[in-house]
Amino acid sequence: MQQHAAPETSTQAAEAKTTPASQPSQVAQPKYQVGDIVRMKKKHPCGSFTWEILRTGMDFRLKCTGCGHVIMLERKKFEKMSRGMVEHL
Ligand SMILES: [Zn+2]
Repeated sequence: MQQHAAPETSTQAAEAKTTPASQPSQVAQPKYQVGDIVRMKKKHPCGSFTWEILRTGMDFRLKCTGCGHVIMLERKKFEKMSRGMVEHL
């Protein structure tokens, strides 16, 4: 699955290549750090969508910001569920 942006519409500018004209908001691999708050696609039964990262690595440990419940999640699953939405608080 490729997530390339639509090809740039030519602006007839000679220096169009020096700076990317329209950059999609950071599609590059999001980096997760302990302490980051991530928003998941799925809602926790307590009603909260946001989780605090307690541990990163092959598995992520997350704490629900709503009720404090802690879960372990494979990195792949985490990235799927988090959609790369990370908020630094
Ligand atoms: Zn919860």
